[in-house]
Amino acid sequence: MAFIIDGKEVARKLRQQLAEQVAAEKLSPGLAVVLVGENPASQVYVRNKARAAGEVGITSDTHRLSAEATQDDVLALIEKLNKDKNVNGILVQLPLPPQIDALTIIAAIDPEKDVDGFHPVNAGRLSIGMPCLVPCTPQGCMLLLREALSNLEGKRALVLGRSNIVGKPVAQLLLQANCTVTIAHSRTKDLPAECLSADILIAAIGKPAFVRGDWIKDGAVVIDVGINRIDDPAQEGKTKLVGDVDFAAAQTRAAAITPVPGGVGPMTIACLLKNTVESARKRTSG
Ligand code: NDP
Repeated sequence: MAFIIDGKEVARKLRQQLAEQVAAEKLSPGLAVVLVGENPASQVYVRNKARAAGEVGITSDTHRLSAEATQDDVLALIEKLNKDKNVNGILVQLPLPPQIDALTIIAAIDPEKDVDGFHPVNAGRLSIGMPCLVPCTPQGCMLLLREALSNLEGKRALVLGRSNIVGKPVAQLLLQANCTVTIAHSRTKDLPAECLSADILIAAIGKPAFVRGDWIKDGAVVIDVGINRIDDPAQEGKTKLVGDVDFAAAQTRAAAITPVPGGVGPMTIACLLKNTVESARKRTSG
């Protein structure tokens, strides 16, 4: 049976380290969260981020704009936050309403305050191995991977999914760790065979239990990024969260696996706090 990588616990330790660092170095990190519209899931995410920030000593402010806000309204707010010396991290909660182009908004954020690591400058820096703000979920995946594998060098890694926020940046990080990386996507041929050859499998596609147990190589380490809400077969009328991997089947073959919930999710928020603290340290030292 696989070792279950406890993302909640790893995230808790990381938050504790950050809180100690903030106190010891007398930092005063400030995080600005921009929320446009009333998306219920976004409201929950933003609340969770603000609460976690408070726990480690980060001051966070949520800036709410109505669902009818224009692109110029959002750009004006970003401009104001870019100039605000008390703000060293800016996060725009996605998705944005259809009248607003997410890439235009992200590109308007000062790259030094881009704690999501989505700005083209940070994406470019990551791809050529320069220091940068690394996207939070991929950073969290790597920290969890290292809980199970101390040496990643030469391992065959398969990244399932090629989004700009998860798949591509996690592939860059695996490459930096000297893995041999393959990125698979919806046009990949013979996905089971690709998965079966992977020592490390990172699943980020958004399809419940899509990766079957018999696609997992014996002894592989599986990081399941997917968050999918499905009807709970055990409780009528209730729903539950599952990942992109058939957890029960995969854990009989994998050496280690992350659960959903309680795996990558808590790490994403902890790494956001880490980026915010790093950004505050840079401001203090620079
Ligand atoms: P996107 O929808 O942006 O990307 C999905 C990727 O999966 C695409 O590259 C797509 O391929 C690929 N894909 C879709 N269907 C298949 C298929 N049948 N076979 C192979 N590849 C397929 O998703 P995100 O990267 O934003 O998110 C992925 C999942 O991770 C979601 O469940 C999301 O909720 C979760 N997530 C979790 C986070 C966390 O904190 N734990 C944070 C961010 C995301 P193609 O490019 O060809 O279309």
